[in-house]
Amino acid sequence: MKARTHDIAAATALLGVIVTVPLPTMTLSTVIAALIANQLGGIAPDIDQPTAPFWRNLPIGGIFGKAVARLLGGHRFITHSLVGVALVGFLLSLFLTFIHPILPTVQMDIVWWAFMIGMVSHLVMDTFTKEGVPWLLPLPFKLGLPPLKRFRITTGKWTENFVALPILLIIVGVLSALHYNEIWLLLHQNIVR
Ligand SMILES: [Zn+2]
Repeated sequence: MKARTHDIAAATALLGVIVTVPLPTMTLSTVIAALIANQLGGIAPDIDQPTAPFWRNLPIGGIFGKAVARLLGGHRFITHSLVGVALVGFLLSLFLTFIHPILPTVQMDIVWWAFMIGMVSHLVMDTFTKEGVPWLLPLPFKLGLPPLKRFRITTGKWTENFVALPILLIIVGVLSALHYNEIWLLLHQNIVR
């Protein structure tokens, strides 16, 4: 799927968690860092694709992207599996612990969750595409929904833009409407300086 669809899916998943899980009070810097982390998590699994937007946007991204893709076993491999999610979760927690002294007001546990929610949303979305997702690596098969391939989404085709995207936007709309009061309260009470 395209990066834009993954961005919106990551935000949708985050919103879903925000309205269902009681949240602690957060600093404003935590909220900003968490929103960025959520978006990064949403596109992170595609670092195994040399044509991914963030590789294209880097000056030597083409070469670097290809090297990383090869290292990660090619597109839709380790970064698109539960093992990959666990590995990234572990490395991310090390990284966040490391940078915490530099950013002491950021609640790193929340940033971690926001990233991981984005990352899992990516795998869920890719599951609806023709290629499927190797969730259970090292078991060498890809899972997809619906099980019949021909009913799945082709990346970049009309089904992505006119089925997947609208469904995500409807979910955002419905969640926001149903939980309008909680979201309002959250913005006013849970965010501290
Ligand atoms: Zn992907």
